[in-house]
Amino acid sequence: MTVRLGCIADDFTGAADLAGLLARSGAAVSLRIGVPGTDTPPAQAAPFEVIALKIRTAPVADAVAEARAALGWLRAAGAQRFFWKYCSTFDSTARGNIGPVAEALMADTGAPQTIYCPAFPENGRAVFMGNLFVGQQPLAESPMKDHPLTPMRDSNLMRLLAPQVSGKVGLADRLCVARGPDALARRLAALREDGIAHVVVDAVADADLHTIATACRDMTLLTGGSALAMPLPGLLASDGLGPRTAIARAPVTGGALILAGSCSAMTRAQVARHAEAAPHHRLDPLDLAANGPKAALAWLARQDPARGPMIYATAAPDAFRAAQARLGTERAGALIEAALAHLAVGARDLGYRRFVVAGGETSGAVTQALGIDRLDIGAEIAPGVPWTYCTSAGQPIALALKSGNFGDADFFSAALMADAAA
Ligand code: ADP
Repeated sequence: MTVRLGCIADDFTGAADLAGLLARSGAAVSLRIGVPGTDTPPAQAAPFEVIALKIRTAPVADAVAEARAALGWLRAAGAQRFFWKYCSTFDSTARGNIGPVAEALMADTGAPQTIYCPAFPENGRAVFMGNLFVGQQPLAESPMKDHPLTPMRDSNLMRLLAPQVSGKVGLADRLCVARGPDALARRLAALREDGIAHVVVDAVADADLHTIATACRDMTLLTGGSALAMPLPGLLASDGLGPRTAIARAPVTGGALILAGSCSAMTRAQVARHAEAAPHHRLDPLDLAANGPKAALAWLARQDPARGPMIYATAAPDAFRAAQARLGTERAGALIEAALAHLAVGARDLGYRRFVVAGGETSGAVTQALGIDRLDIGAEIAPGVPWTYCTSAGQPIALALKSGNFGDADFFSAALMADAAA
């Protein structure tokens, strides 16, 4: 199937977020982990393809090379419109990758101009007069100012972007966006005539994003947070360029297992809630260091898969800090990730077919161990967490990959009750 919109995301959870928002339209969306290899013919592509890269903080040359390889695959699959997705807090440094990747994609596709709009109003990210806000705080006064890898010390997107690109940077502000798609299209054309290739566009509400997507529906390359892409399937469908409905999917049946490797506050509440009703087994990092995950696998083999058993390392800060002090932070994390990944494979071999995984890093470890490089996106269980479908060792599998703080306290039972074939 020809790809209608080819998306490149700079990290995995961002890609899943984007894929979930695109799938809200009902369109078929496929998420690929890394640039597909030569064994993946572009002919197998879905109308909406999202390629998850891990390039947010990679050296610029590596990030550009990977993004161009992803673009090459998407173009071979027929895509003519592209979306470069980065974080809604514009995570980057002066030597960061947002601008260089955008410029490389423009060069490869011949796009004379693109826009930059990280706004995500549903999550409190707004752009006004070129300045990015997180809730009511300017970006540089938000907790992002102290991020360990990409501290954001300026809130002005034009100033952040300018050192990252060789072309000129301009602004289409909220006053223009408020006048509607035609006014914005005229403003972009005028900027283009002035040789301005990179245009930051304000948006403070979903209606603004709709205006922007409408005005830019013919642009070869759009860049932004996931929310800007949300109107695109509907717009492409109304232009006759995209299907309106998802392909029918065979149901995934079989036991369901919860694997929790996140210690964030919401996951702790979810684990506590699920433990009230379902069989559960706690992983102790010190025990794992000494004995590995054998005991957990033996426990799992004794459980009734229909009851949605749960295996978790999730712990309160005091407990995980004590383990980190004994084992080292990295080793403790790696031991748990490896154990949960091993247990996912063991569970699959025991006949489990549905997995709910809590934790971003944990999700990466589990998908890797299950040998998954492509996921089809299904219905959302909670905002940003869709059921996804894939194949592992020839078996159809359903996966819900949840970043630590997503969902509410009942998320695990909600996920198990949701029809995994939705
Ligand atoms: P989140 O999405 O909440 O950030 P991640 O899975 O990305 O969750 O990160 C959680 C990290 O904490 C993982 O590396 C995991 O292995 C580690 N971890 C989980 N439980 C414990 C524990 N009890 N002690 C030490 N580290 C832990």
